[in-house]
Amino acid sequence: MSPALPRAGLREVEPYAAPQLDVRARLNTNESPYPLPDGFRDDLAEAVRALELNRYPFREADDLRERLAELHDRPVEGTWVANGSNEVIQHLMLAYGGPGRRVLVFDPTYGLHVRLAWIAGSEVARVALDQPWEIAPHHVAEALGTRPQVVFVCSPNNPTGNARPIEVVRELAARGDALVIVDEAYVEFGGQSALGLVDPHPNVVVVRTFSKAFALAGARIGYCLASPEVVEDLRRVRLPYHLSALTQAAGLVALDHRDDALAILDRIRRQRDRIASALAGLGCTVFPSDANFVLFRTPRPAERVWHELLDRGVLVRDFGRVIPDCLRVTAGTPEEVDLFLSALEEVLR
Ligand code: PMP
Repeated sequence: MSPALPRAGLREVEPYAAPQLDVRARLNTNESPYPLPDGFRDDLAEAVRALELNRYPFREADDLRERLAELHDRPVEGTWVANGSNEVIQHLMLAYGGPGRRVLVFDPTYGLHVRLAWIAGSEVARVALDQPWEIAPHHVAEALGTRPQVVFVCSPNNPTGNARPIEVVRELAARGDALVIVDEAYVEFGGQSALGLVDPHPNVVVVRTFSKAFALAGARIGYCLASPEVVEDLRRVRLPYHLSALTQAAGLVALDHRDDALAILDRIRRQRDRIASALAGLGCTVFPSDANFVLFRTPRPAERVWHELLDRGVLVRDFGRVIPDCLRVTAGTPEEVDLFLSALEEVLR
């Protein structure tokens, strides 16, 4: 008997697979290089000890949503939390994408937007941007001309690093009736938040994460700030008890230690800027970044450079298939950046 066949097109989709290797400098997935301090671990251990794991968690994650709403001066009814911002985006796609509905992205951007749109069964439309990947008024017009139900704006954009002007989001929201999802995974590092647009434009959703500036990628916590109507729709598509009690506890404790996380932002930005100027000196084309990573074009084929960096214990991200000859490197500790720069100098010599 032959095995059952999956849905059409599934086998053409590669599983998401950024390498997880034990190397000296892991600079390929834009995490924080610094763990939260011991005080966080102690408080988390205590919070976990107090959990009643024989019971289901709070279904609405009210405590965590209330704290996030307070933090951003937003109503709790317009605040939503899930397992990483990826799951928030998945909920948004299940509720606002789907069969017969079009989701628009500005390319190149974060690959999961298209993937999650497709998984939900949506049609995907793309507006291609040219280097240096800025969204001009004619791109906005082109985007709205496809009559999308959802538009993604990633700001700062992954993998290019540049933030989008707030005006772009305002135009998209005001001139169309699409849900405009602003992915602000890296906004703590630079750029301007679109949060102020949510009240005047209830079709704007701002998505945030604990995975980058909050130094908590392992806990899987993301959230969005939206109009209460949108959040009500997300409640209809989430799985019951989607956010474990462990995750909710970690989120609450992390918010108590938010200042510890934010205190290291400057250190990370300094390494990002150091990488950018050193790369220019090595003959690479460097694209200005508002995030915690830098995209650059090497004078040699990206795939070769990627392998030779790995041979020297440095893992970066190869974007050569999306943007010719480009690699992306995360701003790590000064020691990791030393290692990356000296390895790259050797490779390009
Ligand atoms: N959005 C962007 C732009 C990202 O780069 C990432 C992580 N690489 C995410 C969302 C997802 O992050 P998480 O699910 O860890 O919150």
